[in-house]
Amino acid sequence: MAEISRRDFMRTAGLAAAGGCGLLLKGCASKTSYDVVIKDGLVVDGLGTPGRVADIGIVGDSISRIGTIPSSRGASVIPARGLVVAPGFIDVHNHTDINILVNPRAESYVRQGVTTIVAGQCGDSPFPLSDAMFEEAEKSLRKEYGLVLSWRDIRGFYALIDKSGTALNFSSCVGQGTVRAAAMGYEGRKPEAAELALMKKLVANSMAGGAFGISTGLEYAPGGFASTEELIEVCRAAAPYKGMYATHMRDEEDFVVEAVDEAIRIARESGLPLQISHLKTGYVRNWPKLGAILERLETARAAGLDVYCDRYPYIASATGLDLYFPLWAREGTTEVFLGRLRDPSLEVKLKAYVGTKEAEMGSWDRVLISGVDMEKNKGLEGMNILEASRNRGKPPFDFIRDLLIEESGRVGIVQFAMSEDNLMTLMAHPLVGIGSDGSALAPYGPLGKGKPHPRSYGAFPRALGKYVREERLLSIEAMVRKMTSVPAERFGFTRRGVLRAGNFADIVVFDPDRIRDKATWADPHQYPEGIPHVLVNGKVVIMDGEHSGVTAGAVLRKGGPEAA
Ligand SMILES: [Zn+2]
Repeated sequence: MAEISRRDFMRTAGLAAAGGCGLLLKGCASKTSYDVVIKDGLVVDGLGTPGRVADIGIVGDSISRIGTIPSSRGASVIPARGLVVAPGFIDVHNHTDINILVNPRAESYVRQGVTTIVAGQCGDSPFPLSDAMFEEAEKSLRKEYGLVLSWRDIRGFYALIDKSGTALNFSSCVGQGTVRAAAMGYEGRKPEAAELALMKKLVANSMAGGAFGISTGLEYAPGGFASTEELIEVCRAAAPYKGMYATHMRDEEDFVVEAVDEAIRIARESGLPLQISHLKTGYVRNWPKLGAILERLETARAAGLDVYCDRYPYIASATGLDLYFPLWAREGTTEVFLGRLRDPSLEVKLKAYVGTKEAEMGSWDRVLISGVDMEKNKGLEGMNILEASRNRGKPPFDFIRDLLIEESGRVGIVQFAMSEDNLMTLMAHPLVGIGSDGSALAPYGPLGKGKPHPRSYGAFPRALGKYVREERLLSIEAMVRKMTSVPAERFGFTRRGVLRAGNFADIVVFDPDRIRDKATWADPHQYPEGIPHVLVNGKVVIMDGEHSGVTAGAVLRKGGPEAA
């Protein structure tokens, strides 16, 4: 910043030092009208309006004026000729969660131009915690990151982020799976009346503490043990707060259409708007179902349901290797799950189930191992299951089982089961926006490990580089709108998502000819290109492609002043 602003800064400083401000208030004010002026950029406002060349004047944390502003009136000036100036991107499906405490710079996101995230997704949030969960999380956080767990609920978690800082605006949903675990443990049974009441109370408390909605991950334990009726009941607790129902649906493959019906029913009967997370139809035989799904969503929308979806711009998904085992096998704690894997009497049953998963995938070569903890297994990262099992001289089932046992149930995988055509249909569809499904990482430090899905570094630039510039699926203005004003309006960030005077100055400056993702499957820890400047609440966080270290983000609480 120093280089481009030094001249103007010196002039302003000189004037103030000479005491000129007292008498020449008006003239002085005109000299120092703006803290930052972004000059001559193509302003894409976020509403879908065709871009126009204009200057943006920022005072404090907000946009003061958009129009023609002489450079001399900015304490610092960012030249943006030939660049697009857009609202900072909003990622509505983000798993950063505790990573924001591990590295408040949120490197892999803010460098994509993302200035606001909604965490607490897929039924999983870092709150609320029962005593047992607190104890377990306490140990693992200390061991993995040296973090001291000091919170039980959203208020405590948010207070800690307030204290340690965040480079981008952080918001969260409350996870239904976490709530269920807190109320009744990891058991796959119906809740007692008191347990259901406790779940509702925990959801209401989280909403009152500023959560933006409730999320589910119905393919996971324990959230997936809930019946549709239980989910409706629990979601109702978020209705008075106008929370969002964000769902990783019960099925994304053979029963994906039924899962969409269930999601619509839960939203309708609980009175919440619906956000379908990472909408996809996994496995080749389910690819033709996309039409039926979109038709159902359009019909629901026409009938008055506020429904929208998000999707990451990749055809591979990332999850845990344990997901290839049936839900009943995953019931209870990790130890119980591992016990079942070791139990010879269950082997035939488990092997048969895992075999159906292999058949659905087509081949184990479509599943990559992306993250393991043990040093002796590190060499497996980046290999597919077929290669890796050969490498260990075991049949695939034995390999998968033994690896899960060795790694205490935690093995990250990336699975290629989606259609590129469907992805393009989704990206261009008016009811689908961008959600990265990743988490804030950095190529250095404890968040730089393994071979994570490249979406954590590349989702937003990939949408603009590959799908707007190269594939010409839709205009820059239309894609930016999906990333900004649409999510802002749906989640209730009323002073964000649109470049307009009075709004918070969350701004990304990018080069439409150069923006691209660089993160790959083999080498995912790479920042994108073509995004020179990012401002969060008026402060320059990325300048000339470098992180300033400034943690200018706010913790957003639904209904709070920072969000509104
Ligand atoms: Zn999910």
